[in-house]
Amino acid sequence: MCGIVAYIGPRQAYPVILKGLKRLEYRGYDSAGVALLNHGLKVYKKKGKVADLEESLIGKDLEAHAGIGHTRWATHGEPSDRNAHPHSSASGKLAMIHNGIIENYTQLKTELTKKGYQFKSDTDTEVLLNFIEDIQKNNNCELEEALRIALKRVVGAYVLVLLDQDNPDTIIAARKGSPLVIGIGKGEHFLASDASPIIEYTKDVVYVNDFELAIIKADELVLKNLGNEKITPFVQKLDLELTAIEKGGYDFFMLKEIFEQPDTIFDCLRGRLDVNNRTITMAGVQNNIEQLKNANRIIIIACGTSWHAGLLAEYVFEELCRVPVEVEYASEFRYRNPVIHAGDVIIAISQSGETADTIVAIERAKEQGAFIFGVVNVVGSSIARISNAGAYTHAGPEIGVASTKAFTAQLVVLIMIALKLAKEKKSIDDDRYVYLLNELHNIPEKVKEVLLLDDDIKKLADKYKNAKDALYLGRGYNFPIALEGALKLKEISYIHAEGYPAAEMKHGPIALVDDSLPVVFVATKDSYHQKIVSNIQEIKARKGKVIAVISAGDDMIPKMADDIMMVPEADEIVAPLLSVIPLQLLACYIGIAKGYDVDKPRNLAKSVTVE
Ligand code: GLU
Repeated sequence: MCGIVAYIGPRQAYPVILKGLKRLEYRGYDSAGVALLNHGLKVYKKKGKVADLEESLIGKDLEAHAGIGHTRWATHGEPSDRNAHPHSSASGKLAMIHNGIIENYTQLKTELTKKGYQFKSDTDTEVLLNFIEDIQKNNNCELEEALRIALKRVVGAYVLVLLDQDNPDTIIAARKGSPLVIGIGKGEHFLASDASPIIEYTKDVVYVNDFELAIIKADELVLKNLGNEKITPFVQKLDLELTAIEKGGYDFFMLKEIFEQPDTIFDCLRGRLDVNNRTITMAGVQNNIEQLKNANRIIIIACGTSWHAGLLAEYVFEELCRVPVEVEYASEFRYRNPVIHAGDVIIAISQSGETADTIVAIERAKEQGAFIFGVVNVVGSSIARISNAGAYTHAGPEIGVASTKAFTAQLVVLIMIALKLAKEKKSIDDDRYVYLLNELHNIPEKVKEVLLLDDDIKKLADKYKNAKDALYLGRGYNFPIALEGALKLKEISYIHAEGYPAAEMKHGPIALVDDSLPVVFVATKDSYHQKIVSNIQEIKARKGKVIAVISAGDDMIPKMADDIMMVPEADEIVAPLLSVIPLQLLACYIGIAKGYDVDKPRNLAKSVTVE
């Protein structure tokens, strides 16, 4: 988390940095700050959003051609002015921004405190900055050299960007574990956590790798490893348009992203699914088909919403491919001592491709001989690069912190992989295969129909916005959707919500049911339909309020439910792509009705690059 922007070149640095920080705000919004070099170092920072910083700087001297900026998601030290980045060193000559966690900062802090250092903030970042400055002072060396020495002692993850008052024509950056992109312009350079602050200036970018240092002047980029050897930068062309990262008439990115889903799902299918020729083209699967076909088991590793996509994939892969599947939280998997065999295939799912826990988990598994298949949205991201093979979700930039379109794109990719593999393994019969290809092909049009529920769902949101708790229930393929619906509600409306397998409620949660509890049933037509109808009866018998997502043509549930959201009929394997959408809208409109900024829910941030 944390958004980082830096600029060096002939333009005014502040406006470039400010605009970039606004684009990166989804990564954190506890505080924001800039450091500018202009006859000395000026550092300005403020608790709150980037707009608060901007307002506090009106009338200030912001002239500079080199600068760094940061929008924070606090890990060490509360959100406050003094803990905001950039931090300045004891001498006041260095300023630094940081994305990540310095895990051994207490040890470094103790060493520095013994030497008489005092700290203005509670952050790990300020400790590291002074540690670097102390090395520079003791060794009488260049900042670059001091940074290299310091990083050999650092345990943790970071992107660091430094300004040095004594070297005003240079910016120095280093990366391990957090993302950093460098934009190469004509006589100018840009640095950022992702490409969004860069795209309007240049399409030539370099993704910095772990353990690399970048020494950047307006007209020069030097990349080195920690051994001080030069590395040739690998310049890539950005495939991203400005419109993709703007709100386009919607009040919130989250709403825009929900409504984009017919297009994002279409984009995800485009060039891959061919109903006429009955094929799915996915190079990552095709080129590694033996590995995938011979997998003893598949382990899916993810966090948050991506984990829900993984859970659904477990049902789909087991059904279609007859291969055992386990779904793991990356944070648990990485710290256990999991049993991995060379024949295991790991599918890592992450929107950003930078999820810290998932990265470490797959690195561990790779060391033990597993084959890693990445399903990520951000092209060129760390998980994409670490994986042996993969498939992009092509959902475009997702800026709302609560994931929506990335989730449905993940489901589409996972279902396509399962279908392709099932076909190769001959574990699916031809009729079912062709039928499911068509079902998938028809999803974008059906999603358009679901989105017509918009106004009805706004009314429902108004009706249920004051609920204190909510229960989300589903069975089979709809169980992960119940979990996802509950997560969306928690994230952006701050209403406590729990997702449960509908049959499990009898083992506990049913005790919560009374006439004030909304119970959302994800009850589209599937093999469990009759069973979930009984579960609805059980809730009604206890006076719970039932809101049900049902399939068109269901004439049973409308007679029992208090409210319904009807989606087009679809095969049970693809139906979750439809049933999740009313739940996204419901959560979004409840959050908006309660007056919250649904794009920036409290305490959260996107792209979780810390553990
Ligand atoms: N650890 C730093 C802080 O708390 C940076 C946090 C982050 O990257 O999320 O200020």
